Amino acid sequence: MGRKIVILGTGGTIAGTGPVGGNSYTAAQLSAEQLVGSIPALMQAAGGELQVEEVARIDSKDMTHAVWQQLAQRCLAHLADDTVGGIVITHGTDTLEETAWLLHEVLPADKPVVLACAMRPATALCPDGPQNLLDAVDVAAHPQACGVLAVVAGSIHGAREVAKVHPQRLDAFASLDGGPLGWVQAGDVRWAHAAPPRPAAPRHGELLLAPAFMAPEWPRVEIVLSHAGSDGMLIDALVAGGVHGIVVAATGNGTLHERLQAALRRAIAAGVAVRIASRCGEGCISPITDQAWKDAGGLSPVKARIRLMLELMQP
Ligand code: ASP
Repeated sequence: MGRKIVILGTGGTIAGTGPVGGNSYTAAQLSAEQLVGSIPALMQAAGGELQVEEVARIDSKDMTHAVWQQLAQRCLAHLADDTVGGIVITHGTDTLEETAWLLHEVLPADKPVVLACAMRPATALCPDGPQNLLDAVDVAAHPQACGVLAVVAGSIHGAREVAKVHPQRLDAFASLDGGPLGWVQAGDVRWAHAAPPRPAAPRHGELLLAPAFMAPEWPRVEIVLSHAGSDGMLIDALVAGGVHGIVVAATGNGTLHERLQAALRRAIAAGVAVRIASRCGEGCISPITDQAWKDAGGLSPVKARIRLMLELMQP
């Protein structure tokens, strides 16, 4: 007998409701049970056993570190259960790529953890959530699936590459440079390569058990944009406010406004960790070797922020 699929609800537009067929809605209204109960085909896609649990019911624009702590802990517990084959997380689209990256960074990768979302609420004339959720369960039940994935509009994305690239269209996510890891169509999962790549450094969830991860406050890491007219005011204010790390969303290939640079040097002298990411939506900046600051390893600014917080948690 196959292993069960666990669905963890967190809210989002996929659980949103409003006037039937109308454009306005409020995210995160349906419970995880209501959402799953409205799609009978999920049970068959899961291979006969499905467990539903609600971790949060929020609009993901309001995601908090506390919800992330809870979600990561619940994932870790379910992944350690031999009767569980995979996890599906229903989530809002706004911060989906951040949650995917956080989970990728901390969870073991031997079983799939698949994020599902929707651009239209459950009460839309033609909602996209039910199909996205069914597709996510199909992927989670697939024998080759592993690691943290996102399934949206028939495409399977990996946690590192996935990004929301459009504010409205149904196919709002892309895997940027890498292209999707695969596709899912009517229950048929096709991988772009022989199998989805396994994360290079498999994690075992130790960080999740560390006091720093479960502490009420995480290291404070902020993102600052380098743009025409930039100066060091924000950087100096963050340092004065006790920030632990700063990610700069730099222009182009990691270039910084000259007026930001002096402020960043002051920040580093004050003990603040600085990482440089690119504000370009695609591509990976060349490694920075000749400066006081480091590059963010090609991560987007929001993902670089998560990695730096996790780095700063390490003893
Ligand atoms: N604001 C919503 C959320 O992120 C948008 C969505 O789910 O599409 O929860």
